[in-house]
Amino acid sequence: MKIAILSRNENLYSTRRLKEAALSRGHEVDVIDTLHCYMDITSSRPTVRYHGDELPQYDAIIPRIGASITFYGTAVARQFEMMGTFNVNESVAISRSRDKLRSLQLLSRKGIGLPRTGFASKPDDIKDLIKNVGGAPLVIKLLEGTQGIGVVLADTAKAAESIIEAFMGLKANILVQEFIKEADGADIRCLVVGGRVVAAMKRQGAEGEFRSNLHRGGSAQLVKLTKEERETAVNAAKVMGLNFCGVDLLRSNNGPMVMEVNSSPGLEGIELATGYDVASKLIEFIEKNAKFNTNKTRGKG
Ligand code: ADP
Repeated sequence: MKIAILSRNENLYSTRRLKEAALSRGHEVDVIDTLHCYMDITSSRPTVRYHGDELPQYDAIIPRIGASITFYGTAVARQFEMMGTFNVNESVAISRSRDKLRSLQLLSRKGIGLPRTGFASKPDDIKDLIKNVGGAPLVIKLLEGTQGIGVVLADTAKAAESIIEAFMGLKANILVQEFIKEADGADIRCLVVGGRVVAAMKRQGAEGEFRSNLHRGGSAQLVKLTKEERETAVNAAKVMGLNFCGVDLLRSNNGPMVMEVNSSPGLEGIELATGYDVASKLIEFIEKNAKFNTNKTRGKG
């Protein structure tokens, strides 16, 4: 097969591993810098151009679109969909997953376990906002934060009020969430490929830290999932319409709760922690499913 990986940098671990896995299974692979693609969107025969040439008709694309280039990246992916190329994660699903509020609303609608969560932009009654999600302790998150930055634990209602006021002063959209104390500074990252969990790791925050992010000194190890956790991860991926994603769960007294679904999951942490060859699982999925013009939206979304 002819596979293209849309990635800004071919030296990134995940890009390298996907390329390696595809080559070792006998496929042709091109790594294409998403931002360097250009196209005539009005042509009746959709194509993508790159370095002065028309790109060939690929059987499949693997979009590795970072949050900062979602807008342009999904447009490029959509163009490939219009050409009938099988896209592992369709552009509409990527856009959907990048909107945290929309994602949580969709997951909640389908009955997926979530921490009790409130949204706010300029709440006119902060005390009520806090009461509405069950009171302190609470986790307050900046919507635009990543790697645990902008995720704050407020032990008391008073502290929560001050933090919410401070974020409001910065004109930030926030999310106010029940604190899952029993998760004990750990979360579970499940890597889902084609409706199956192919690897899972437990990330444990550094001593005294409630955030488990590896960038914040957390450590990761292979974990065995319960049936319920496995089903929750698979269902969350399905609701989001993603064939390849990372689903982050918290282990709560009320069962697994989804924190986030990531449409460009990194492979380095999970492959090193579990020893599993996740990249090859994705290539196998492509081999079974990449047929011409089989994307659900075919560029219409
Ligand atoms: P980011 O997307 O910036 O990593 P997260 O929402 O994933 O932010 O939060 C960072 C970490 O904080 C999580 O990995 C988890 O360990 C912890 N955490 C987040 N929300 C909660 C919560 N509601 N209860 C307990 N721990 C939480």
